[in-house]
Amino acid sequence: MIDSPLALRNITRNIDKIDPESIEEYLKTDGYEALKKTLTMKPKEIVSIIRDSGLRGRGGAGYPTGLKWYFAANTQSDAKYVICNADEGEPGTFKDRILMEGDPFSLIEALTIAGYAIGSNKGYIYIRDEYRLSIRRLQNAIEKAQQSGYLGLNILGSGFDFDLEISIGAGSYVCGEETALFESLEGKRGEPRIKPPYPTESGLFGKPTVINNVETLVNIPLIVNRGADWFKEIGTECSPGTKIFTLSGDVARPGAIELPLGTTLRELIYEVAGGISSEEKLKMIQLGGAAGHCLSPDYLDISLDFDSLAVKGLSLGSGAILVLDESRSIIKTAYSLAKFFCHESCGQCTPCREGTLQQKEILGRILSKKSSEKDLELLERLSVSMVQTSLCPLGQTASLGISSAIKHFKEEFLSYSERGI
Ligand code: SF4
Repeated sequence: MIDSPLALRNITRNIDKIDPESIEEYLKTDGYEALKKTLTMKPKEIVSIIRDSGLRGRGGAGYPTGLKWYFAANTQSDAKYVICNADEGEPGTFKDRILMEGDPFSLIEALTIAGYAIGSNKGYIYIRDEYRLSIRRLQNAIEKAQQSGYLGLNILGSGFDFDLEISIGAGSYVCGEETALFESLEGKRGEPRIKPPYPTESGLFGKPTVINNVETLVNIPLIVNRGADWFKEIGTECSPGTKIFTLSGDVARPGAIELPLGTTLRELIYEVAGGISSEEKLKMIQLGGAAGHCLSPDYLDISLDFDSLAVKGLSLGSGAILVLDESRSIIKTAYSLAKFFCHESCGQCTPCREGTLQQKEILGRILSKKSSEKDLELLERLSVSMVQTSLCPLGQTASLGISSAIKHFKEEFLSYSERGI
């Protein structure tokens, strides 16, 4: 974690402060107080607290968490599921790993509260195989919670049964998409489903399912303990709470930091991360991971919250911020994004399968200075059709980094063409 006077330590309060393998240490920091409080309340009261808090999903989409819980709670079914999406695969993003390695009991407690709130007795944590330490710590936390009566049958004598299982994925980027994750968890090929139906109606094994990201979930015990009003005092009116940002690239102090939503890019890069690490000037910021927009320094004063970004057609994504100085090539950056998405496309639908391949080939031509006059225009048209016709968010966002790079750094693209594109 980066040390900064701007940092807040709410969801990261236990990171590097307690032994993540000790339930006793977790209990000493108010651990499981939220679950105890939950079990004295009606499920719908818990859903109301989460709705009132305004908590929005931290996995990328920013969907209201309480609304998701409300829909699942109000769908009748003989079985419901709660899933933690821990398939963190966005390049430059490592916030969920920090939380799972440093405070696994918070996540287990949050999932148990979610299960109680929506009427589910079974939860899964879907996590990629590369996250070995997270898996070990979560498995340990599940076993200790089971031994101490916080998971399993008749939790704390309340009559509520809930248990958790870890499901390990093979590290496919598309399995972070919720319906592809369900397919993978069901033992099938991880390909996205057509929506609707939405997961709260028909998710895992066709049952109502709440699926939340790790960072979203670890807010839950805090909100239950301290109240929705406390949560709403942090951040902005429509984006309450904090966000963990992960900074990488040419900054003096790369790493992760928890900040109120509404912090600006300028504060993040210059105050928190110590500015540019070289003598060069800032050239480009990619906001939100590989699927995020590549921005020029003109965007430094933008507020990092869901709505301010949406107004400008941008997204917070996973909270990953890649910073490049003037020595970096935008074309090479765009080409590496194209290679990444071409590799990760599941191939189920044509616009994404063919579009990601074409992006890679065209950028390869530009990079080797063999592009034709039409190539930039082709990339822009390709982007429009991929955004509008791809089946899932992977294909819908796979061109955004490239098209925004062309928009903000067109001169550099033009300079790569022998014939002046
Ligand atoms: Fe697969 Fe891409 Fe289509 Fe998503 S958009 S279903 S990743 S081919």
